[in-house]
Amino acid sequence: MRSLLLSWLLWFPVSVFSASDPVDALRSQRNWEELEAFHGAVSRSFFENAMERIYAPTAQWRKWMRVEESGVWIETGELPGEQGFFLRFGEGSPVVSPSTWSGLRGLRIVLDPGHIGGTWGPLEERSFAIGDGPVVQEGDLTLAIARRLAARLREQGAEVLLTREAAEPATPLRSKDFWEEARAKWAQDEVRVAALAERFFYRTAEIRARAQLIEAWGGADLALALHINASGFADPEKPALHERNDAHVLINGCYLDSELASPAQRLELLLRLLQGYHVEEERLGRGMVDSIRAATGLPAYQYAAGNACPIDAEQYLWSRNLLANRIYDCPVLYLEPWQANSKGVYEWAAAGDYEGLREFHGELRPSLPATYCDFVLAGLEKGFSVEP
Ligand SMILES: [Zn+2]
Repeated sequence: MRSLLLSWLLWFPVSVFSASDPVDALRSQRNWEELEAFHGAVSRSFFENAMERIYAPTAQWRKWMRVEESGVWIETGELPGEQGFFLRFGEGSPVVSPSTWSGLRGLRIVLDPGHIGGTWGPLEERSFAIGDGPVVQEGDLTLAIARRLAARLREQGAEVLLTREAAEPATPLRSKDFWEEARAKWAQDEVRVAALAERFFYRTAEIRARAQLIEAWGGADLALALHINASGFADPEKPALHERNDAHVLINGCYLDSELASPAQRLELLLRLLQGYHVEEERLGRGMVDSIRAATGLPAYQYAAGNACPIDAEQYLWSRNLLANRIYDCPVLYLEPWQANSKGVYEWAAAGDYEGLREFHGELRPSLPATYCDFVLAGLEKGFSVEP
């Protein structure tokens, strides 16, 4: 009861204020003056290492950030060469949480059940069935996982926020609120206007509303974005299962040249770097990779396109610039175990959550949400036990 009341109270300011303005809901809420607090926060080598290794290994980032001995000139505008912001370097690196594992007590953890699910599943393109088989929706599975995980984390003394507690959006806005913005981009092409307005709703506005919930909660030590991967069907008209099955974990980084050209994204990147979020994400990400591999035996997913950069030698941990892992103001791990449309997973995923064991492909398995929950708990312990 207490948590119901608390979550209702948290919703109130979000739906009444900024998130109900469609234009605001598409825009970054950060401003350059926030960098003033970070003079002396990091050394030159910490800064350059973070940019080269995590945030922009493939981009021409020095076009926007000119490193000098005592600090870095940062471009704050749409074009390089304008008057920028000079950030002074210091001696060290930001402090992340201590490496001595003493359990989850007192840790503040956000669980972000990926997508919305329920009646929104088809709209957000996270719903499929094979022939007359059962419907699998990523957003329903991630909510079941989050509910289980929240109970286990709270039992161990962690404070937990779910960014949604039902198969409903966190944002009060809907596609129709974005038709004007979508028309400004695609003019009279009604099919494209409709698709863009929908994406503005279920992706941009929804993720921004969740970021505001995290902020209203008072921030967190870690956010876990809970997802299950899937691959496009070879023939979307006739969906068929495939053999491939794999897993990966994502942290924020790998900004592309086009993304660095956006002043808002450049600022959001810097605010993460200067607080050392990537240090925490990398060590917890490595722990999570070990735990997922040990629990599932899944091989690493391989990105074909250049929008993700491998972090570890076996390419199980990747950096990628997604809206949620860029704007949630805390370290964020994105978990992508399994392919829901693989032969070994589909029926098991469709069974949803259940107690005890059921047989799939000749083996007795706990539910997918229960399995997910176990490796996340083991992964947190591994990650927090490692020296950053
Ligand atoms: Zn997903």
